[in-house]
Amino acid sequence: MRKQARDFNDVRRTVVKIGSSSLIYSTGKPNLAQMENLVRQMADIHNRGVDVLLVTSGAIGVGFNRLGYSQKPKSIPEKQAAAAVGQGMLMHLYEKFFDEYGVVVGQILLTREDFSDRRRFLNARNTMYALLGMGVIPVINENDTVAVDEIKVGDNDTLAAQVAGLVDADLLLLLSDIDGLYNANPKTDPGAVVIPMVTEITRELESAAGGSGSAVGTGGMATKLHAARMAMHFGLATVVAGAGTGDVIRRVLAGEELGTVFWPSVRLDNKKRWIAYCATVQGKLFLDEGAAQALARRGKSLLPSGITGVEGDFEIGNTVSLVGPDGVEIARGIVNYSAREVNLIKGLHTHDIQKTLGHKDYDEVVHRNNLVLDV
Ligand code: GLU
Repeated sequence: MRKQARDFNDVRRTVVKIGSSSLIYSTGKPNLAQMENLVRQMADIHNRGVDVLLVTSGAIGVGFNRLGYSQKPKSIPEKQAAAAVGQGMLMHLYEKFFDEYGVVVGQILLTREDFSDRRRFLNARNTMYALLGMGVIPVINENDTVAVDEIKVGDNDTLAAQVAGLVDADLLLLLSDIDGLYNANPKTDPGAVVIPMVTEITRELESAAGGSGSAVGTGGMATKLHAARMAMHFGLATVVAGAGTGDVIRRVLAGEELGTVFWPSVRLDNKKRWIAYCATVQGKLFLDEGAAQALARRGKSLLPSGITGVEGDFEIGNTVSLVGPDGVEIARGIVNYSAREVNLIKGLHTHDIQKTLGHKDYDEVVHRNNLVLDV
């Protein structure tokens, strides 16, 4: 994969995410033409030998319409009931359309715990690899019928990026009614144009996309930037493009300059990917300026002397967030000491650990091998 030129010739595995608005008309009924069209394109690249995993939204959307609601229900059980009905309808349609092109699909429904629990994470990966090995296209969604906020990934852009990391994809394709990342709000500024390429997602870019009705505007851009940021850290490219753009999947893969491409920055190894984006954060460590600099600038481990405060009730081996003196998270990492122990040794030199705790298994509270910056 070569940057600048959008050379996607060597893409071997891609995760395609399709947003609800691209699958459902404003009447609440499925947009069969668009769905069929996208399926045909995915079947085609699959036939070419590219592994395809589809992350689909739309279950709640088609479900509540089928159940006779005129708008999205508010209560969680009603939404879950809608998802239960809608997910079946979606699978029925995918099964039917993919079958026309001789492609077999398999449904996978995930929740956040399937990523945060290492064993389930590996199980999910094995299943996906098995399906891909059999030439099956996994059709993936959040398990909305059981997922409540506490156990939710929350949005399918993030889910798609997590899946892409899980299966080591080379390309994440986020297709929706958003054509790309705009330099201004396209709804209010007629001169707004799509930014063709992003190599770094700055905090400014994020806050612009996050604010309602602001610069880059539409609601879904914030989650897309978040997903693209994860993908950049996973070492894979992301393209945000319009699902309705003719032949979009084939053209993106052919290297046409459609939408916005986000090029990868670093390539975190599997363990660090998991720490940064999958593990549940169990607490916080507050650092002084010296420690924050040592981590961020010099790639050092975190020693007790740089810790000024502890929040949460974590155990050895849990993941915590490391927060700088300005209150901004600078890293995440796995702790070698429990919250109770860190409270006792914070601010101390490493040679005081033994006499304070009665044991010293490590000098570092978080070792740099178990630490990820800039998540
Ligand atoms: N899982 C939701 C659904 O299928 C969609 C979530 C999203 O669009 O981000 O209805």
